[in-house]
Amino acid sequence: MSNVKNYINGNTTCLSSKMTDIIDPSTGDKIGSVVLSNEKDLKLVIETAKIAQKEWANITPLKRSRVMSKYKSIIENNIELLAQTVSKEHGKTLEDAKGSVIRGLEIVEFACGIPHLLKGEFSQNVGTNIDSWSVRQPLGICAGITPFNFPAMVPMWMFPISIACGNAFILKPSEKNPSCSMLLAKFFSEAGLPNGVFNVINGDKEVVDLILESQDISSVSFVGSTPVAKYIYEKSAKFSKRVQALGGAKNHLVVMPDANIDQAVDGIIGAAYGSAGERCMAVSVAVAVGDIADELVDKISEKASNLKVAPWTDPESSMGPVISKAHKNKILEYIESGINEGADLVLDGRNFKLQGYENGHFLAPTLFDNVNNNMKIYKEEIFGPVLSVVRSKDYEEAIELINQHKYGNGTSIYTSDGEISRHFTSNINIGMVGVNVPIPVPMAFHSFGGWKQSLFGDHAMHGAEGINFYTKLKTITSRWPKSIKDGPEFVLPTN
Ligand code: NAD
Repeated sequence: MSNVKNYINGNTTCLSSKMTDIIDPSTGDKIGSVVLSNEKDLKLVIETAKIAQKEWANITPLKRSRVMSKYKSIIENNIELLAQTVSKEHGKTLEDAKGSVIRGLEIVEFACGIPHLLKGEFSQNVGTNIDSWSVRQPLGICAGITPFNFPAMVPMWMFPISIACGNAFILKPSEKNPSCSMLLAKFFSEAGLPNGVFNVINGDKEVVDLILESQDISSVSFVGSTPVAKYIYEKSAKFSKRVQALGGAKNHLVVMPDANIDQAVDGIIGAAYGSAGERCMAVSVAVAVGDIADELVDKISEKASNLKVAPWTDPESSMGPVISKAHKNKILEYIESGINEGADLVLDGRNFKLQGYENGHFLAPTLFDNVNNNMKIYKEEIFGPVLSVVRSKDYEEAIELINQHKYGNGTSIYTSDGEISRHFTSNINIGMVGVNVPIPVPMAFHSFGGWKQSLFGDHAMHGAEGINFYTKLKTITSRWPKSIKDGPEFVLPTN
């Protein structure tokens, strides 16, 4: 039974005595507890971060990069442990968890290049004998508030870059699965990161509000649901903070009549049901264009019904439980509403039972056909293993449908027509776009972020956007006139 505190100044400690349970989603059993931090905990973390940040910012980027390189190898040596920690508290398969740790590791790898990434710009002779240049300097103390669905990867979108830039970082992970963040912090200390530069504070809305109100914290990076993202964005702005707040999603995958249908089906299966649909890049709507729809629905249905739903401890599991009983009930309500609003329920995952795991939060793959854009299951993010198929008469109708949706995180198209593909990538009103790939997932050196209700703020995560977010720009203009002090006169050569 784990008892998760905070990680402050290189120590596990907490002042609040309020705790909440950590639940194993596969069994429904309590497997630990985590502190819900209060004002005193935040005060302590800020005091330590303030001192540590000043010293850390004075360490050269090259030396910071060396700490990052050590951190990278420690993570590499502990991928299995980190992945198991993710799976235990989240429920996703071990393969999936490993993949997410590796994605996070790639950000650490990217941050190792910080001496290069922080190089500024220089213009000589902007006026006669006047030069101008710009540098990027750290913000100070940055905070990150992260969701349950990627307990390793999403925090790693943030803190490696922020810390490489010379900031101190306070991470507030999801209270549903906090253990991975504690491990990531401990490993960073082992890599030689000075105490107080990276801290983890656990808790819920109470501590989030304190973070947002703090005058000592310069920026907030948030990933989570759209209503909370909007709240974070507005409140951070009210307290004059730099903010990036990534929200929910409803990702469409378009299948054109000329697509390689088997590739599209394989892509849809992984993207719709992988991680039980609890991914911000999950495909939750397949748009079948023209006469491909019947074949597409049959093939998805056949493959989805063969997926093995099982706990992460089963190496053959292709899909685990959803995070909580409350979330499972919410998904059940969505399925009910889809039926009531007239969608065709092709696969019903509601009554799935697994011997020995009767209290686990399992649902089997669920598939709706003939969904339309007035239905609740189409309009809202379900965040579960529920796929809707919308039938669209042609490409124009498909692109219009996607562009009208309030979310704009990711989308993809399967086609063998280059002209359609180019039109799609140019005209779709979505932040991340794929062609003949199931999920467009930008790599560490590009940036991750959606549009519309999927991102509030100006900056996406990691890549160049991450560097810009975690630094402030300073522009210097300088002229060196002849010294007016007495001294030997130098005559500068002219050429
Ligand atoms: P959530 O919004 O419930 O919680 C996210 C974080 O905010 C947690 O740390 C939580 O403690 C805190 N929080 C929750 N309610 C709060 C409140 N009222 N005030 C202040 N803080 C609050 O999200 P979740 O359920 O943990 O994660 C799932 C959501 O995250 C989905 O909507 C998913 O699409 C989204 N997500 C988005 C991305 C992206 O890149 N856009 C990536 C991953 C997850």
